[in-house]
Amino acid sequence: MARVRAATDIVALIGEHAALKRQGTRWVGLCPFHQEKSPSFSVNAEEGLYYCFGCQRSGDAISFVRDVEHVDFVEAVRRLADRCGVTITEDAAVTAERQRRTPLYDAMTKAVDFYHQRLLAAPDGGPARDYLRSRGYDGDVVRAFKLGWAPEGWDALASHLKVSEKVLTDSGLGFVNRRGRRQDAFRGRVIFPIFDPSGKAIALGGRILPSRGDAAGGVPDGPKYKNSQDGPIYSKRRTLYGLNWAKTDVVASGEVIVCEGYTDVIAFFTVGLPRAVATCGTALGEDHFRVLGNFATRVVLAYDADAAGEAGATRVYEWERHHSVDVAVAALPAGSDPGDLARTDPEALRRAVAEAQPFLRFRIERVLQAADLRTNEGRAKAAEAALAVVADHPNGLVRDQYLMVVADRCRLEAATLRGLLDDLVRRAAAGAPTAGPRSRRDASGRRPEMVADSTGSRDVPAPTGARPGHGPHPGHDGESQGPGLEALKLVVHQRESVVDRLDALLFYDSRQRIAFETLIAAGDLHEAIHRVEDDSPEVAVLLRRLAVEEPALGADGVVMQLVRTASRRALADLDAQGRLSPDAFAQVARVTAQVHSDIEELESEDRDGAIKAADRLLAWLVERGEESE
Ligand SMILES: [Zn+2]
Repeated sequence: MARVRAATDIVALIGEHAALKRQGTRWVGLCPFHQEKSPSFSVNAEEGLYYCFGCQRSGDAISFVRDVEHVDFVEAVRRLADRCGVTITEDAAVTAERQRRTPLYDAMTKAVDFYHQRLLAAPDGGPARDYLRSRGYDGDVVRAFKLGWAPEGWDALASHLKVSEKVLTDSGLGFVNRRGRRQDAFRGRVIFPIFDPSGKAIALGGRILPSRGDAAGGVPDGPKYKNSQDGPIYSKRRTLYGLNWAKTDVVASGEVIVCEGYTDVIAFFTVGLPRAVATCGTALGEDHFRVLGNFATRVVLAYDADAAGEAGATRVYEWERHHSVDVAVAALPAGSDPGDLARTDPEALRRAVAEAQPFLRFRIERVLQAADLRTNEGRAKAAEAALAVVADHPNGLVRDQYLMVVADRCRLEAATLRGLLDDLVRRAAAGAPTAGPRSRRDASGRRPEMVADSTGSRDVPAPTGARPGHGPHPGHDGESQGPGLEALKLVVHQRESVVDRLDALLFYDSRQRIAFETLIAAGDLHEAIHRVEDDSPEVAVLLRRLAVEEPALGADGVVMQLVRTASRRALADLDAQGRLSPDAFAQVARVTAQVHSDIEELESEDRDGAIKAADRLLAWLVERGEESE
């Protein structure tokens, strides 16, 4: 693992996902993990570490591959090892699993090529080519998405592949029929190959030609779309069609468009929105969000308005919270299909995405649009229906803002509606199986999102989906960095210049103190990070940040600032002691005088004198520290 890390050129690796520029000994660029306009993402090539001042993401080559390519730790190490030509020893189980899957990937890749060539060149692919042309797909689209044609007949692919029966069936490309003959799973269909985010072919989707849907006689019919079944290399629940092509733009824009089918994805690409994905014959679910959360901060559902309205609200809010994404809806005109729109009115498709509304807003609008807002009775009914939608949202502050929208549109007093909304929320909460002691309302009458502890005496605000990286960037200038941080930078970058002149007691901030102690105890930065990673992840983040920050001050200045601050703090303590115990007063007065004169010397022009004063003060501080223990 350490070898893989050491052999990887982290600048080249990250450079595939973000443009990095050299700045001193660091490399900086726009963060691939959050959307930003000025670069906050820094890489230390020598240590192989990165840190983002915007969103505080940090890590090494392995965590980078894990997060960007959405693979687990083992797979990330393996990919890096492949990249830099390091052979790694794996345990037997991992090797066996790989040996089982490799031929399946190979067969799938061969099948994709086979079908693609058939579509491009074979005489029997004519009707498929005609169909795709009628949908507005030119050769570039066909090649970009590797579309294919699965010929009629029983075993064109199976006899081409020449793989074992097990590989044929495990890959989902074919099966063995009752008479013991090998048969292709896809026949007489246009093929949409499905790839994993890294671009490996893992499954197929097949669309029947329109003329065949109602074809009479003999020809095997079937559903309009047919998809590979789940198998060792493919899981519908976790796969998003198009993510391999979309991920670059999704990362760059922070936004992903989720649509309903393969042709919808292609439609968005052709109108200049190359960040669309689709689920593969299954509803959008938790696992999809786990994948998307790694790439995007905003998920735009590009569904037909009725379908979007039916997306389970509770689940959408849970996804938003758990995966730190905002869900919006790009409502397409009812019954319209992005494929048709892309050809007839591409601007409408782009506008729908640009004007996508937050999920809750979209649902409220639907209720209000369906209501009769011209009469008093109609507006009252509309307000009740809209509030029922608002009540689903888990965040009290969000609910209250939409309550105002409803009040405004229905010409009712917000205060009146608040009582109604409270009742709805309370009723929903009472219906929930986990409803324990609920929090009291606050003074304004709203019931903010609270989680009461068992005694009900302490209210803790529930998480609201706030996430780092979306405010002004802390870091470079904004945050007060302090001499403690400067000292730690020196320990990381110029260890020899300060290591003998510092002591843990100079660090007032506990995170900085732990970082210092760990850096001193560990041989190097990586070892230090490794030691704190599990128990104090916030210290690990601090250490990675230090790796990408250059010291701003020299060792003398930093040591003196730290010593002065610590000495003054100690003097204040001492002063308090002197007041409490008159007997010790004379003793305290003598020490105080000495410390004061040392602090003065610290600030003098005479550098050697100042350094000696700093040494004396530090010795005194250490002695005091030991006495008090
Ligand atoms: Zn970032």
